[in-house]
Amino acid sequence: MEPAISLHATIIITGIVQGVGFRPFIYRMAKRQDLRGFVRNRADAVVEITLEGEKPRIDAFLQSLSKEKPPLARLDSVQVNYSETELGLPDFTIEKSSQERTKSGSVIPPDIAICADCLKELRVPADRRHGYFFITCTNCGPRYTTIVGVPYDRPNTTMDKFPMCPNCRAEYTNPIDRRFHAQTIACQTCGPKVTLLDGSGELVDVEDPIREAGKLLSEGKALALKGNGGFHLATSTLQDDPVERLRRSKDRRNKPFAIMARSTEATLTFAEVGSCECELLESYIRPIVLLHKKNPFPLSALISPELDSVGVMLPYTGMHYLIFDSVGDPALIMTSANAPNEPIITDNKYAIQRLGSVVDYFLVHDREIAQRADDSVVRCVGDMPTPIRRSRGYAPAPIALSKSPKIKTLALGAELNVTACMILGNKAYLSQHIGDTETVETAQFLENAVSHLQRLVGFEPDALACDLHPKFTTTKIAERMAKQLSVPLRRIQHHHAHAGSLMAEHSVDEIVAIVCDGFGLGYGSQAWGGEILACHGAEVKRAAHLEEQPMVGGDLATRYPVRMVAGILRNEPAIQDWLKANASHLPHGKAEIPIVMRQLYRQDFIWTSSCGRVLDSVAALLGISYERTYEGEPAMKLEACSNGGTDALNIKPEVNGEIISTTNMVRNIYERRANMPAPDLALSAHAYMARALAAAAIAVAEEEGIKAVGFSGGVALNEIIASRIRRVVSDAKLQYVGNSAVPPGDGGISFGQAYLSSIQQ
Ligand SMILES: [Zn+2]
Ligand SMILES: [Zn+2]
Repeated sequence: MEPAISLHATIIITGIVQGVGFRPFIYRMAKRQDLRGFVRNRADAVVEITLEGEKPRIDAFLQSLSKEKPPLARLDSVQVNYSETELGLPDFTIEKSSQERTKSGSVIPPDIAICADCLKELRVPADRRHGYFFITCTNCGPRYTTIVGVPYDRPNTTMDKFPMCPNCRAEYTNPIDRRFHAQTIACQTCGPKVTLLDGSGELVDVEDPIREAGKLLSEGKALALKGNGGFHLATSTLQDDPVERLRRSKDRRNKPFAIMARSTEATLTFAEVGSCECELLESYIRPIVLLHKKNPFPLSALISPELDSVGVMLPYTGMHYLIFDSVGDPALIMTSANAPNEPIITDNKYAIQRLGSVVDYFLVHDREIAQRADDSVVRCVGDMPTPIRRSRGYAPAPIALSKSPKIKTLALGAELNVTACMILGNKAYLSQHIGDTETVETAQFLENAVSHLQRLVGFEPDALACDLHPKFTTTKIAERMAKQLSVPLRRIQHHHAHAGSLMAEHSVDEIVAIVCDGFGLGYGSQAWGGEILACHGAEVKRAAHLEEQPMVGGDLATRYPVRMVAGILRNEPAIQDWLKANASHLPHGKAEIPIVMRQLYRQDFIWTSSCGRVLDSVAALLGISYERTYEGEPAMKLEACSNGGTDALNIKPEVNGEIISTTNMVRNIYERRANMPAPDLALSAHAYMARALAAAAIAVAEEEGIKAVGFSGGVALNEIIASRIRRVVSDAKLQYVGNSAVPPGDGGISFGQAYLSSIQQ
């Protein structure tokens, strides 16, 4: 028998292959097959392997790559080049990272929740990391929030300031240890330390700061906790007082607070958890998942006032678990800590300066945060995980596209819930959640996050994309950057960008997109928000839209939906009486009514086709919500009210040419409000909107010969409307598409902008 031919092979692997225990895995696989050579991380975040040995063994090695890869690794491509010239390498080794860079996009891992092995060690008294709050391994721990540069190696992270002790170093350099090359390796002796400070930043001298923090939380104190990506504000969920105090000091009247539950079992005591929700809750991403509250709800009603949902996440660091080990509470408030309209706080000194009046104590550590990252928020819409905020755990892992556009675009989003997006080859890299860019601080955060991500990915844009709105901060930044770089700037209409996000996500070249939200600037300076767009490639046509309604007092009508009702029902003879009866829900009471009537009479208002504003008006008519103190509030409360209702009115869809009527539906609600239950009317309003929008979209699809109908925009997070549209579209034998990779709200705008810009001629 002839001896098997010995070969030399070079293998390049792209995907999420750095920071996920990939090199130790390669080492073990090579050793198993008795292969020689080396593996190394490259600066462009690919992994390069050189192998020498018998062909069948190399083949077996390649097979084990995808079959046995570490749980968090993702292989996008594996390129193998063989040659017959062997170098005669003596052994298999893990080499130092190379600085070599190619043009292909690199992938930086997102933060990963503590793994089961580390959680076990955390609680084993004999383990040397027993009770160590920053316990991590190659399979878990912070990544994006600690990385300052590529390649992903210890010196390029904020752990660089903590030299390893001999024990940690021994693990780090032992190829068979589960912390081999774990860049965030640390222990009690050598790693970051945690300290408890009082409200003025003075050290509180206690033996176990975390245990003490837990005790203070269960006593109803408010604490600021420094985590991986920023500070959280934490307090008890069992009593109203601490929650109310937090609301007052944060000047946050109604906006729901996210909570962290001890476990899935604990969550089940206060919320419904379906299989879609359970999977998300327990995933290594550990997002905040929107859950239906149990009735009665045993926790404080002030957590999410007048909503039927509550945002829940499970612990994701050793510190979180240690806190729960020292309290009996099923859950704690855990909300991002930030000064008003500023991004989440990451710096210890700044936290003490800004939060000293809000909290009683600080639990801080001494590791710097390289990139801030808010918690992600997800909702299961019809059993489809739909991101509301795509941030920690997701960013900056790229979204794969089916094509590789030639143009590299950087897009900056709109104004609210901003993210940035870069399209490079067939990958779209989204930044973490930036927030509302109306303030200097948030605008700066956007620019920092963009340049950081550009550096990590090695990205130079050929074009920039922004919203049509000339006054958005993101538009101004994009204009300046385009000028500096001498690249074209593409202004993408708001709702078209939402449609683009659906096209990119589902690889469809043609779509009829139903795009519903609160506000976006249309072509010709109109306020849009209930659009049916026919899209062929980068071309778009506004095929239909919701009836335009007056916004009496402009933005005031958004804040106080009573003004929207006055506008929609302006031709009702008794509308003035209704206004008088509801005057207390206007900031100036009765005195405001003549002003509203005069504005109506003189037609001193702007028009909007917004879907959000119509839902707001129904909420006000039904007495569910009279003021919008946070984005989506009246509409979210209307949705909560609909639960258990029936579509009693069953209003027929009314589409006249391009116009989908809304006045008639609102009038129906107005006339029946005294003698029908609010849940039935609320559900009837939702059902009408879904039926009418779907009917209009299907008609457009038939006319244009388009096979896919999608639903995007913030209203697509409304489960009742989304599931009903989906049913009608599917019944019409058309392909229904919704967002599940990016938020349907404005957090997904940059993705759509970048995509549409990159396919433009
Ligand atoms: Zn681990
Ligand atoms: Zn150590």
